[in-house]
Amino acid sequence: MNNLMRAAEILKYHQPFHYSEEREVPIPRPDEVLVQVEASGLCLTDLHLAQGRQNLGQLPRVPGHESAGHIVEMGRAVDGWQIGQKVLIVIDVPCQNCYHCFTGQTQRCRKLQRIGFERDGGHADYVAVPARNLISVPDRLSSEDVATLPDAGATMYHSLVSQGKVGVGQKVVVLGVGGIGIYGVQIARLAGAEVLATSRRESRLAVAEAHGAIAVNPLKENVQEAVMAFTGGEGADLVADCIGTEESVREGFAFLRPGGKLLIIAYIDDYFRIPSIPLFSTEKEVIGCRGCNRQELVDTVSLVAQGKIKPVIGAHFHLSEINEAAKRLEEGDVVGRIILTR
Ligand SMILES: [Zn+2]
Ligand SMILES: [Zn+2]
Repeated sequence: MNNLMRAAEILKYHQPFHYSEEREVPIPRPDEVLVQVEASGLCLTDLHLAQGRQNLGQLPRVPGHESAGHIVEMGRAVDGWQIGQKVLIVIDVPCQNCYHCFTGQTQRCRKLQRIGFERDGGHADYVAVPARNLISVPDRLSSEDVATLPDAGATMYHSLVSQGKVGVGQKVVVLGVGGIGIYGVQIARLAGAEVLATSRRESRLAVAEAHGAIAVNPLKENVQEAVMAFTGGEGADLVADCIGTEESVREGFAFLRPGGKLLIIAYIDDYFRIPSIPLFSTEKEVIGCRGCNRQELVDTVSLVAQGKIKPVIGAHFHLSEINEAAKRLEEGDVVGRIILTR
């Protein structure tokens, strides 16, 4: 193997991604494997990272927290995996030695590092990751089929199933059906809920509708009225906010029935405002939802393998076109995720 590779890097904040063909191939440590990446999902968070919204430590950093490929090299302490095996990469590298890790809630670990954030990620030809961050990919699925699951798919699974306890007969509202929200529609439907989904983009609403949601465009309809009609005037059991603005949180809270749960899955604005007396008197719950644990990603892959969830891929760009892809993502007209190919 040549020891140089192609990679998209964050060289400095507030600049476009830097595409290089001369980044050194990482050398796996004893407990790590080297994965040759075949597909990686481009997330809005990658764009936020390039804007310096999170401290990534020493730059340059290779972003990319949704990546799949196959094993090409293994550290000497790695056991139970094989060269050539198809794998998907879990984002979080938790400390394994705290209350949250001991109780299986690794997504809450305060000392975790993340692939594509504090550690180099998958927008490259190769990425070195701890072997315990691998998930085996069934033969019938391609890297592209699973690449978007570590964040978009499994975050929605964690949010609706584990945090929201979505169930049969419930009424669920999904605010925003971009790359992540479209998984929300599918998972809520799969759990036996009825779903109303909102977007200002007709193309996204059409896909949400095709997956069984009632589609509402806030530019054309009053969403509050649509939700009340949808829920027989009661309000929703669950609202999954995939927008993350002060406005979306305020509206989402208002759409709930008493005792309903507002799942906060996005964070565009720095602060949200919740009205105090309605919160107190209706016992509505406002719940933060971050990422997933390993098992939730395994479950999500399994649902895709069974054909119960279908990844929605809106566009493909070559890794070298990452800045064009970022522009498309920012313009907001992509339905589902963008995949970076190799
Ligand atoms: Zn992401
Ligand atoms: Zn921990």
